[in-house]
Amino acid sequence: MNATWRQRAACRGLDADIFYPVSDDDAWEAKAVCDACPVRQTCLEHALAGREREGVWGGLTERERRRVLRQRRRTA
Ligand code: SF4
Repeated sequence: MNATWRQRAACRGLDADIFYPVSDDDAWEAKAVCDACPVRQTCLEHALAGREREGVWGGLTERERRRVLRQRRRTA
């Protein structure tokens, strides 16, 4: 897998725990990092393609990613 985008990730070196919040309400800290991340879209697509079940990826929580996948299925 080409993972060079990970080298540019804004979360690189940060405490991974903030990207695995207990609830969506606790995801604000991770989302703030993602908002400023130069590879946000790539990260999100990676998570969607891999059906990542946990954590914040590309600025979206698991529930938000499921919503995106549902919307894409509807419009496909
Ligand atoms: S979008 Fe968020 S989780 Fe993905 S690489 Fe960037 S900072 Fe990390």
